[in-house]
Amino acid sequence: EKFKDGLEKTRSNFSGKMNELVARYRKVDEDFFEELEEILIQADVGFETVMQLVEELKLEVKKQNIKNPADVQTVISEKLVEIYEAGDQSTANLNIQNDGLTVILFVGVNGVGKTTTIGKLAHKLKQEDKKIILAAGDTFRAGAIEQLEVWGDRVGVDVIKQAEGSDPAAVMYDAIQAAKARQADVLLCDTAGRLQNKVNLMKELEKVKRVIEREVPGAPHEVLLVLDATTGQNALIQAKTFKEATNVSGIVLSKLDGTAKGGIVLAIRNELHIPVKFVGLGEKMDDLQEFDAEKYVYGLFS
Ligand code: GDP
Repeated sequence: EKFKDGLEKTRSNFSGKMNELVARYRKVDEDFFEELEEILIQADVGFETVMQLVEELKLEVKKQNIKNPADVQTVISEKLVEIYEAGDQSTANLNIQNDGLTVILFVGVNGVGKTTTIGKLAHKLKQEDKKIILAAGDTFRAGAIEQLEVWGDRVGVDVIKQAEGSDPAAVMYDAIQAAKARQADVLLCDTAGRLQNKVNLMKELEKVKRVIEREVPGAPHEVLLVLDATTGQNALIQAKTFKEATNVSGIVLSKLDGTAKGGIVLAIRNELHIPVKFVGLGEKMDDLQEFDAEKYVYGLFS
């Protein structure tokens, strides 16, 4: 239900246009497919993905000898799920260790919802009886540390921090020692999100990762990139930059509730081959959902 409510804007936009299209056409012809392409592109599904989808749709329509536009809808949903799930074997599940400390690194540009996502995930994992610690690794942005502390208080988890401007790698070192001493299950690490200087960003991420790798064998277990769904194709560009800078294992797509163009989820998966692990559907503690491609796609048509 939560998932459905959060997708309301995308759903009403998309299904409205689809119903209108289907009602207007008597047969499935070239014009129908062209208009369909337009609707999908406007929903931010992404050019490459739309082209691939429509190509496959045309073949399927021919194969199944579909004449009625209304019957194309079912095939679209099936193909969208197929496209989403194809490509690589990585799963949507978080890689949480059964024994010992799991370290999850969060990366992303300022303002995308990184801090909020860390707070929400801390809440979710705490509900699963995990002991959580937060590392205030964004020592650059004014107010970032305090904001993480507010979430720490709200959720009831410890935050390890140093003064603003200090070395993020040193914060990570401290946080890992604290997590070990307090026998935490999961350490969620914030990082700085300035993209203006790509070389510095890469260097800083590298350094932070080196400390984590050295102190916890096998870590970081996840590097989650947070992207803002309302920024559309810009999110895709950010994802490409971060993918070059570091090994991103999954994406959190925040603010999906705030856009009518939720098709960006499909573009990310199909063009970057990184699974969307969570979606943000609001500003509150409970507004983080595991992403489910089938629920999502069928939700668009319901
Ligand atoms: P950061 O700079 O990346 O750490 O971004 P913040 O976590 O401070 O989030 C920026 C703004 O986006 C805040 O006002 C959040 O409340 C808001 N926000 C974050 N996630 C969501 C979401 O899933 N839905 C909505 N509607 N707002 C969100």
